Amino acid sequence: MEFISEENKQEPCFFCNTNTLIPTRRRRKLSFHDCTFTFFRCLSCKGYSLFPALSDELIQEMYSSNYLENMYPKEGLDNKRGLDSKNESFNDQYAHLLQFLSDINLRGKTFLDFGSGAISEIYEAVTNQGGSYTGVEYDASLVLRLKGNFPNRTYYTVNELVKSDMTFDFIFCGDVAEHLSFPIKTLNVLREHLRADGKLIIQGPLEASSSLCHLSVELKSLFLKASPYEFPPYHVSLAKKESIRQMISISKFSEEYLKIYEVTWPFRSISFSIKTNLMQKMGMLLKLFDKALAFILPSYGNRFFIVVSKSKFNN
Ligand SMILES: [Zn+2]
Repeated sequence: MEFISEENKQEPCFFCNTNTLIPTRRRRKLSFHDCTFTFFRCLSCKGYSLFPALSDELIQEMYSSNYLENMYPKEGLDNKRGLDSKNESFNDQYAHLLQFLSDINLRGKTFLDFGSGAISEIYEAVTNQGGSYTGVEYDASLVLRLKGNFPNRTYYTVNELVKSDMTFDFIFCGDVAEHLSFPIKTLNVLREHLRADGKLIIQGPLEASSSLCHLSVELKSLFLKASPYEFPPYHVSLAKKESIRQMISISKFSEEYLKIYEVTWPFRSISFSIKTNLMQKMGMLLKLFDKALAFILPSYGNRFFIVVSKSKFNN
């Protein structure tokens, strides 16, 4: 299998496109299919990029329909409700989007959910507001299954979207950019499919932000666990607020609204029962401090929700 993409020759930062990357041990290397992946830290935007960049073949393999079932074994892909909206991690992930959608009039407007998965709550929030929903996913077999499970909804593959001249009033790109080796390219594609006065909504983790939990990950990687972690390279870029801002600006979008916040992730919930081991308890304690700091400091947090529009300049 070919792992190294042709586009991995100059190794610019995934977020800001500068050649100011240095290999770092602040995050553990990953090992997958006998290939070792190393994080590089950008001296300009301070984000992390993982190399070698993923090939299309590996991306196809990692994000087949099995991926969602592995990630959400309880809910599965065939569950009509998708994820459980009462679940704390669901609220952590989608509360800002659902609030945003409840505040706008979508009557007669088109909404593209890029990297949609099977989240019924977004479809319902859009259609309840009078909007027209379209979901897009990378894997063709996944799109087929989504069409079969939800016959009332419209789904396309990313390839079908790219080849089409469809345009949308709103595009939601939720928790996608951190999986992509070339997120700026994807934002350029989305720009092509966004109407002139349309809004692009992006959300995702800030895994390189300054926080106590991230400091503990860094110290563990530097001093305790030097060996590669056997795990698929799902998150290939780790962002800070600054890296997201630079990525947005390079992709010729203007920021309209940005919210930074701290969520419980990577823990599903904070629980100090007898089943939680000492390391987990220490991590959860740091998480509680991080949440308290995020409550006081508006720029502190491990997630972002941003609304951008096409820049009036640089067209
Ligand atoms: Zn950078």
